[in-house]
Amino acid sequence: MHSYPDIKLLINGEWRDALSGKTIAVSDPATDEILGNIAHAEKADLDLALDAADKGFKVWRETSAYERSKIMRKAADLLRERKDTIAWLMTREQGKPLAQSAMEVMGAADTIDWFAEEARRTYGQVIPARATGVSQLAIKVPVGPVAAFTPWNFPINQIVRKLSAALAAGCSIIVKAPEETPASPAELIRAFVDAGVPAGVINLVYGVPSEISEYLIPHPVIRKISFTGSTPIGKHLAALAGTHMKRATMELGGHAPVMIFDDANIEKAVEIMAMSKFRNAGQVCVAPTRFLVQVGVASQFLDGFVKAAEAVKVGNGLEDGVTMGPLANERRIPAMEALIQDAVTNGAELKTGGKRIGNKGNFFEPTVLANVPTSAKIMNDEPFGPVAIVNTFKSFDDAISEANRLPFGLASFAFTGSVKTAHELGRQVEAGMLTINHNGLALPEVPFGGIKDSGYGTEGGSEAVGAYLETRFVSQMN
Ligand code: NAD
Repeated sequence: MHSYPDIKLLINGEWRDALSGKTIAVSDPATDEILGNIAHAEKADLDLALDAADKGFKVWRETSAYERSKIMRKAADLLRERKDTIAWLMTREQGKPLAQSAMEVMGAADTIDWFAEEARRTYGQVIPARATGVSQLAIKVPVGPVAAFTPWNFPINQIVRKLSAALAAGCSIIVKAPEETPASPAELIRAFVDAGVPAGVINLVYGVPSEISEYLIPHPVIRKISFTGSTPIGKHLAALAGTHMKRATMELGGHAPVMIFDDANIEKAVEIMAMSKFRNAGQVCVAPTRFLVQVGVASQFLDGFVKAAEAVKVGNGLEDGVTMGPLANERRIPAMEALIQDAVTNGAELKTGGKRIGNKGNFFEPTVLANVPTSAKIMNDEPFGPVAIVNTFKSFDDAISEANRLPFGLASFAFTGSVKTAHELGRQVEAGMLTINHNGLALPEVPFGGIKDSGYGTEGGSEAVGAYLETRFVSQMN
């Protein structure tokens, strides 16, 4: 039998309460039940975490890449062993169906393994010198203690990319994990502790996000920031990082276009996109949002997509057969209702859904809006929920101009039978990621990140560890 624990801070290798004894309650988004409490860190706790991260860095940077890699792989194995327990915790606190939680845990283990391999490949360069007897080296060294801030939609996955890259590079880290979904991240971090990561290398805190970021980012111990969350908060934190000349990676909001051309396989597009749209109740930064369908196939796609939305089984993520859980936070319900109401007032057609389900838990109907004018808020603001917009376009250029209209540039999707169209999309869509005729995003070995207002830096692929390294040049004469 599983049970939901009270959750402590991890500081200098010790699981402990906040010095003040303060706590924050955690609730179940499916039942509104209070699940437990988390320790609420304040400045005095953060000072201890900073001191620990400073000392932990000095130990970890001297630990060989080979040894770091071995410990990381062990953490990945422990996570796999503990998959069922951790998935249960995640579903209780976040709401997603158990199978999606289990996939997130297994995906995290895969990410750790990949970064563990990268740890051993943080190569520098030997640069040919102009004079005999001179050797010129560009060496890579860990940037220093990291502060990471992560959201509640993927409680483990959002942390594991930052944590694994930092550890692979030889950095220590303070993770400010999401207060809404705290237990599964604590278990992720426990796997690293149990695998042998030395005290102080990983520290875990919860509290008031703005108080923690305002304190940690300017602090001289912290050398690098990584944030995942909304664009407005990201801009605020990036400005703070800039003021204090701290390196920053920003993984921010999106508003992904999906371009479906007349020559596409529409059945396949419906099937893949319905699964992607309603996964995690649409609370995904790379969720498909603006479906732009070429006029010749518009009604076929819309009919199929509405049917697929109506077939989604909404319920408590612990129950068998449920494919979509509740929204993770109560505040997302009025946010959804307001966006839908505003779209309809602006002339959009509500094809299915649109309402909260019941009055207990944060359940919301999978929703499809059609012919939504660009004046509607939902065409401009990230809905971050189970709402799809289906509009039409005539020509390739129309599709590109709508796809690129917004300041966001995170994920984008397309379906076409034409190699030429696919090639042109790759050149012209302004997005950090484009996936054509399937959903192929977010594997550890491929780039993951946005452009424009969706942020900067990549959290996947061969460049990801580089965000936690600095280049130093050494020129030496014999
Ligand atoms: P929010 O903007 O209040 O918070 C988003 C995340 O940022 C949360 O995890 C929060 O704890 C953190 N945060 C907020 N202020 C912070 C600060 N000053 N310092 C450090 N961290 C801070 O919004 P919300 O209601 O939690 O979520 C709504 C919006 O956030 C969504 O519409 C979506 O755009 C965005 N979001 C994006 C992602 C993502 O994966 N990119 C994940 C969750 C939320």
